[in-house]
Amino acid sequence: MKNLFADIIVANTNVDRPFTYLIPMNLRDKVTPGCPVLIEFGKLTKKGYIIDIKEESDVDISKLKYIKDIENGELSTDENLLRLAIWIKHRYGVTFDKAISTVMPVKSNVEEKTTNEIFLNQDIGEDILKELTKKRKVAWVRLLKELKKTESLPQSYVNKELKVNSATIKRMAEEGYITVGNKQRKSNPLLPILKSLGVEDFNEIQATNEYILNEEQKLAVDIFKKDFDSGNKNTYLLHGITGSGKTLVFINMIKYVISKGLQAIVLIPEISLTYQTVLRMAEHFKDRVAIINSKLSKNERFYQFDRIKNGDADVIIGPRSAIFAPVKRLGLIVIDEEHDSAYKNENVPTFNVRDVAGKLANIAGASLLLASATPTPETYNRAVTGEIKLLELKERARNTTLPKVSVVDMRDELKMGNRSIFSNKLKTLIEDRLRKHEQVMLFMNRRGYSSFVSCRSCGEAIKCKHCDVTMTLHNNNKLVCHYCGYSIDLPKVCPSCGSRYIANFGTGTQKLEAMTREVFPNAKVLRMDTDSVSKKNSANDMIRDFARGDADILIGTQMIVKGHDFDNVTLVGIMAADTSLYVSNYNSAQRTFELLTQAAGRAGRAKSGEAVIQTYKPENYAIVAAAAQDYKKYFENEIAYRKLGGYPPVCHMLTVMISSIREEELNKCATAIVNTLKSDNIFKKSVIIGPTDPSVVKVKDYYRKLVYIKNANYDILLDIQKKIEESLVSYRNVGAVYDFN
Ligand code: ADP
Ligand code: ZN
Ligand code: ZN
Repeated sequence: MKNLFADIIVANTNVDRPFTYLIPMNLRDKVTPGCPVLIEFGKLTKKGYIIDIKEESDVDISKLKYIKDIENGELSTDENLLRLAIWIKHRYGVTFDKAISTVMPVKSNVEEKTTNEIFLNQDIGEDILKELTKKRKVAWVRLLKELKKTESLPQSYVNKELKVNSATIKRMAEEGYITVGNKQRKSNPLLPILKSLGVEDFNEIQATNEYILNEEQKLAVDIFKKDFDSGNKNTYLLHGITGSGKTLVFINMIKYVISKGLQAIVLIPEISLTYQTVLRMAEHFKDRVAIINSKLSKNERFYQFDRIKNGDADVIIGPRSAIFAPVKRLGLIVIDEEHDSAYKNENVPTFNVRDVAGKLANIAGASLLLASATPTPETYNRAVTGEIKLLELKERARNTTLPKVSVVDMRDELKMGNRSIFSNKLKTLIEDRLRKHEQVMLFMNRRGYSSFVSCRSCGEAIKCKHCDVTMTLHNNNKLVCHYCGYSIDLPKVCPSCGSRYIANFGTGTQKLEAMTREVFPNAKVLRMDTDSVSKKNSANDMIRDFARGDADILIGTQMIVKGHDFDNVTLVGIMAADTSLYVSNYNSAQRTFELLTQAAGRAGRAKSGEAVIQTYKPENYAIVAAAAQDYKKYFENEIAYRKLGGYPPVCHMLTVMISSIREEELNKCATAIVNTLKSDNIFKKSVIIGPTDPSVVKVKDYYRKLVYIKNANYDILLDIQKKIEESLVSYRNVGAVYDFN
């Protein structure tokens, strides 16, 4: 018989290439690409992953070793995910090992083996029992016979009464006769999750009124169905204003996909903050839903993955990492609130799951739907250029109109002698709502808080001379530009108008809460932010309490703007709309527009509502467009800005964070790298900025420097990464991480 070879990536090594091994006869039918195996590597036994199986090899056979065994108790990565891992490796310039461990975050069910209920596996028939009897495996047969009567038995019973010891149990589990788990394992997997969402019993979730799709919704679903039937697997942007009923649209698309025997993955930004979406999905798909959630134990996670793999779940809901769920028959991926920053992986590889999902859809022949009221300019641009299909919902679903939004210029308030953080207009409106027993939400954007300096008289924030970005205040009272490194001492007067009233912003949500209680002493106030939400489910509790009407005013950060439907909220106040504008990042206007639109969109979901935006920069395009609830106007301005600055999506941008425990070596290395790149002819067409300081210069004793490289050609950025890696070899104490955009 001919030899069979396997290319294997060795886990937990720095050697970033596959090694060839021979596949022994007994494993031939068992191994597939993605399969975890044990191999001899050097003198050690190591774990590896098969990435390819082939009939020929250039390597001298006498030098090759055989695969020792299949790694037990571990799910093998399916082929689609393996192909995705290989793509991730190249796209984000990471090692094979890193790429593979990225797509298979759930590794083993070790934990499960320590628990105490024993289950019979399927397909243990009389013939198997006979064979075991022949081999004189008496204890095995005894246990299997008992299990056939009941399906599961407690381990203590098996040990004591059936006299089958733990070593035997372990062996039987390894060979696939039985499974050791706990009793709840077979109960409805949704229960613990629903419990954490405040639902005590699965039967408690009732099917919502089966809404009839309105015309716009129906059109969107019909377009999808038609494409699907004709075999066109597209990427769609479902752009619908807040409250337009996007969820119902994708639920119907999913139903269609399921009716064709396929499965769907639905990504949501964060389970605890989007529990209404999860509940709606559970209402529709009941126990055919699998939920991946960071709060699940390893055991629960493994079980969810097992259900998905076995096809016991049609819809997989979860955050970013759920994209790697082992779905066999993928038909549709939905990314809800596609603009959300939670979709960006902060660790290496720093992918945006949108891009990974696009590739996976492509590999698996599935469709991809991106849903948002405020899509990222990157995504909207793809719709404008016709690369992806645009589906639009322009009306609210429940017969209400978008809230009336007004902008208050806080500089005027100051001129009129109002130094309170409440403008007269907002104060009057809050009083009105309190009288009518309607609810109010006050939103304070804390991102970038107090790190920038602005003038309370003219509204200008202090900007870098060389770049169009706000400078950041560092602890040593210096203002630093994070794009070019230019730095000045904190000025005493405003460089634009000479006023002495320059200040760094310093009011957070706690102060806002105190002031709200002071100004509205009779109102019941609830505050929700990362500080007040520390307990496991306290975010849900607060949301539930507020929805029930336990408080009149809800104060909060970003947390309160995500996807909640509060019927009685008729006023939203946005306290300092411009704070996120001053974050020195090319997407600060995008974040501002997104937050303001989403926050304003919380008002008047059921009754008609109103929103007030308080700002020192009413003329900024993000604020103007958010007030007008005009996405297209925002987009035109945004894309013009990106073109001007050469930022994504007009250009690709590689951010390199170089770090070292030794400051001098870091500085030397960073400068040398930039000089090498600048002198290299191939890279000359790239814009290279830096080295410059990040906002936090030192983290855990590591000093850091940033280099930005812009080029319209992504591949050149990958070449640049390789070049940097080569340069780094001669600096022993310096490392780098790469973020491609
Ligand atoms: P979005 O996610 O677009 O902001 P949602 O999906 O949360 O909007 O829907 C907003 C509200 O409108 C929800 O309460 C939803 O139940 C309701 N809704 C959606 N579609 C319909 C419809 N066709 N008829 C009646 N109500 C609907
Ligand atoms: Zn000024
Ligand atoms: Zn600068």
